[in-house]
Amino acid sequence: MKHIGDPARRARLAAPGADRPGAVVYWMSRDQRVDDNWALLHASALARARRAPLQVVFTLDPAFPDATRRAWDFLLRGLIEVEADLRARGIPFHLLLGAPPQSLALFCRQQRVGCLVTDFSPLRHKRVWQAEAAAATGLAVTEVDAHNIVPAWIASPKQEFAARTLRLKLNRILSDWLEEFPALEPPPSPGPLPPPTDWAAVQAAVAGTRAVPPVEWLRPGPVAARDHLRRFVTGALRTYALTRNDPCLDGTSNLSPYLHFGHLAPQRAALAAGAARVAEESRLAFLEELVVRRELSDNFCLYNPHYDSPAGYPDWAKKTLALHAADRREHLYDEEAFEAARTHDELWNAAQRQMVRTGKMHGYLRMYWAKKLLEWTPSVAEAHRIALALNDRYELDGRDPNGYVGVAWSLGGVHDRPWSQRPIFGTIRYMSFGGCRSKFRVAAFIARWPP
Ligand SMILES: Cc1cc2nc3c(=O)[nH]c(=O)nc-3n(C[C@H](O)[C@H](O)[C@H](O)COP(=O)(O)OP(=O)(O)OC[C@H]3O[C@@H](n4cnc5c(N)ncnc54)[C@H](O)[C@@H]3O)c2cc1C
Repeated sequence: MKHIGDPARRARLAAPGADRPGAVVYWMSRDQRVDDNWALLHASALARARRAPLQVVFTLDPAFPDATRRAWDFLLRGLIEVEADLRARGIPFHLLLGAPPQSLALFCRQQRVGCLVTDFSPLRHKRVWQAEAAAATGLAVTEVDAHNIVPAWIASPKQEFAARTLRLKLNRILSDWLEEFPALEPPPSPGPLPPPTDWAAVQAAVAGTRAVPPVEWLRPGPVAARDHLRRFVTGALRTYALTRNDPCLDGTSNLSPYLHFGHLAPQRAALAAGAARVAEESRLAFLEELVVRRELSDNFCLYNPHYDSPAGYPDWAKKTLALHAADRREHLYDEEAFEAARTHDELWNAAQRQMVRTGKMHGYLRMYWAKKLLEWTPSVAEAHRIALALNDRYELDGRDPNGYVGVAWSLGGVHDRPWSQRPIFGTIRYMSFGGCRSKFRVAAFIARWPP
């Protein structure tokens, strides 16, 4: 029977195949940390039960489509720390360069791997990799949801309609899942460690990718993530309910890059917020975003195969957008003009510059930013394409279920409801410059992000 604290209750078969005697491999991907990692805990428990060696593998594909120097920098600096942490605990770490399923298959043959465990992601590329890895190795792939507090497939067996429907389901069971993490046990049969990764060679292999520069203001890695979380729960969390929607203030957690790269477990952040001495209003507002909204994004991407295109919008949104497809657009820009922040709207341009320079646009402005793309491009399909291209190129937390849902919410009413009729938008919720002016000091924000 699976009980609280048992990582097995967060695991399921992702791709069928054999289960053989031999090493247990944790194929790390979305959750790049050693502590607070249910997938590593599960692999470690399996290795102990079988008295087999435990190995951690990260497959890095330098040809990953449209990857940037900014993203690789954050990822690699985090992985350097992960390798050092694993080695200190006597657990071998292997970084494999190349197409993930093929490099993994070669490794499994060479190392006589018998059992493959990975962390869960609802995104397409990871599901394809899992199927290909099972086919190439002949091994079953078990996935463990190390990212969500309630495993996505247990939280709900279907695509949820809105935050309120998932919130109801989560609230019923959250206390069973929001538990303290067990400690990672030492490896069952510690063998010799492989030579350390040649990080200079890895850095050289990814050097040719898109020249978006790394950021300086946020230190990557699990240690920095835990420090950052500590500062947040004793600082900005106190006033989160009041300050989170003001782009002129540093009133949100800025945890999203750490959560995206898995340097921090959302469950750790939820436990810390739960124990913090702060006003209940702020705690609940933060947990609503961190737990309900974030896990709703995974739910959408898990069950909607069109999570990154207008085909994934609800029917009412598709209909209203189609009715307004031919509406006259007063301003039209192409991707290049948007990227260079050359629109007539100084608030939009300032938000774009914040994203390009820091890798993190304020959350409130992300909604405004995406909705204006719908207003200033010839079609919703083009708006959606440009929104994801820019979001995923510049945001440190890009290529994330939250981003796919943020864009689909802004442009296509996903998880939202119809509002009053307007040109271009139909009944999709609208946001205006004037509305922003009534919420925060727009002029101060623009002054902060000059050309
Ligand atoms: C157009 C658009 C694009 C977006 N792109 C991304 C993206 O690429 N990656 C990304 O992680 N988020 C994205 N978001 C969601 C949200 O804006 C960011 O998660 C948030 O701004 C991150 O900042 P923070 O960590 O300081 O947030 P906080 O307010 O401190 O929230 C804490 C955590 O809660 C979660 N969260 C907060 N807001 C949302 C939300 N609206 N939906 C789902 N989860 C949420 C995030 O994990 C966040 O780190 C996007 C939203 C929109 C409207």
